[in-house]
Amino acid sequence: MSTPLIALENIRQRYSDRTVLEIDNLEFQSGAIIGLAGPNGSGKSTLLRLLAFLESPAHGTVKFLGIPTQARSAVNRQVTLLVQEPYLLKRTVYANVAYGLRIRGKNDIPAKVNRALEIVGLDPAAFAKRQWFELSGGEVQRVALAARLALKPKLLLMDEPTASLDSKSAGLIHDAALSARDEYGASLVVASHDMAWLEAVTDHIHHLENGRIVRTA
Ligand code: ADP
Ligand code: MG
Repeated sequence: MSTPLIALENIRQRYSDRTVLEIDNLEFQSGAIIGLAGPNGSGKSTLLRLLAFLESPAHGTVKFLGIPTQARSAVNRQVTLLVQEPYLLKRTVYANVAYGLRIRGKNDIPAKVNRALEIVGLDPAAFAKRQWFELSGGEVQRVALAARLALKPKLLLMDEPTASLDSKSAGLIHDAALSARDEYGASLVVASHDMAWLEAVTDHIHHLENGRIVRTA
C-alpha cells in the first residue's frame, strides 16, 4: 500500500490533565472517504482538529505523507476543516469564497469562486452578491464549504456538517463532498450522526467511545 496521506502514531490528547483521545495507530489513505461515529464527547472533534493540524497532540506523532508534521505548519494549507458552526466574513458570498484564494495569491479567482459555488449547489448568478446576513443556515454552511473547496484541499474534514440542517440542505452538502472527491481527488473524513449516509458513502467508519476507536466497520 502507498504511503498514507495521514498517519497517527501513539496519539494521546489531554485537556487539563484529562486524556480525551488515545489512538495507537490510525492511517488515512489518499482518496478514501472515512466516517467518524460515536456519542457526544467521544473525541470526534478532537481527532478532526489533530488531523487538520490545528492543535498538537500531548503525546505522539501525526505524519503527513510519511513526514512527522507539527500543527500550524504549511501542510495545513492542504488540509481543511469545516467546523460544526462555521462563521462567515461579514461580506458578500463572493468575498467569502474568494478570500482564501486571494491570500494564497491564486489566479482566475472569479472562475474558481463560481465553480466552488456550483459544486455546493448555489447558483453564482443568484448568490455571489448576497450579503452574509441574507442566507439561511443551510446556505451559510454551503458557502463555508465552497470557500474550502475552492482551495482544492487534499483532505477535507467535516465536523457534523449536517447536524442542524434540513434534509435537502444535508443532501446538497453530501453531494458537494462527493464532488470534491471526484473532481480533484480530495480525501474525506466526516464526523456525522447520519449513519445511513455514512454507511452509504464511506469506505470505513471508525466508532469512537471515550476517546478510543472501539470498532471499525
Ligand atoms: P465529540 O466531538 O465526539 O463530541 P470532543 O472531541 O468535542 O467530542 O470532546 C471530547 C472530550 O474532550 C469531551 O469530554 C470534551 O469535553 C473534551 N474537550 C474537547 N475540547 C476541549 C477543550 N478545548 N478543552 C477542554 N476539554 C475539551
Ligand atoms: Mg464534536
